Formats: sequence, C-alpha cells, structure tokens
Amino acid sequence: MGKYFSFQELYELRNSIPMNVLIEKELDIPSKISEGFFRFLCPLCNEFQTAINPKTNLGRCFRCEKNFNTIDMVMAWHKTGFVNSVKYLQTILK
Ligand SMILES: [Zn+2]
Repeated sequence: MGKYFSFQELYELRNSIPMNVLIEKELDIPSKISEGFFRFLCPLCNEFQTAINPKTNLGRCFRCEKNFNTIDMVMAWHKTGFVNSVKYLQTILK
C-alpha cells in the first residue's frame, strides 16, 4: 500500500476525520444514540451492537468483534477496495 500513499497521508486520513462525522455526514450510515453511546449500523452484520472510541477514532462492532478505522469503514460500506476508499477520504479532507 506504500506504493500509492505515504504513511503520513494514511495516518491523516485515519485520524483527521472524526468517525462519527464520517458515519453520519459523509457515508450516511444509520446511527443512533443508545444508553449515551453513539451506535452505528454495522456494515457487515447490520446490527447496532457498536460503539466508537474517540481516542483511537475507531468504530467497533461487538458482534463481529471487528474494529474499523475510517478507511475500513468506507471499504465496508461502499464495498470498494483500499485505493478507491483512500481516494474517497481524500476528497472529504480537501
Ligand atoms: Zn457487525
């Protein structure tokens, strides 16, 4: 993957776009506040057994036992590959 994007670029894409903003405003993934926590529809299992860790900017599905960074989230929701998902995130940051 270093072939296309620098480590610095990828780091920025994973951390500069808050996960909840990406989910709500950009990807339009269904989400809700439940028990005081932001929950999003897991793109893999379609359940809301999820949470976001603002410190790491990762989304987690407790059912799939999977963490999503911003790039993973775009890949899972849009069903696009790594390169196209990174390019999509770059358009958001610009
Ligand atoms: Zn899931």
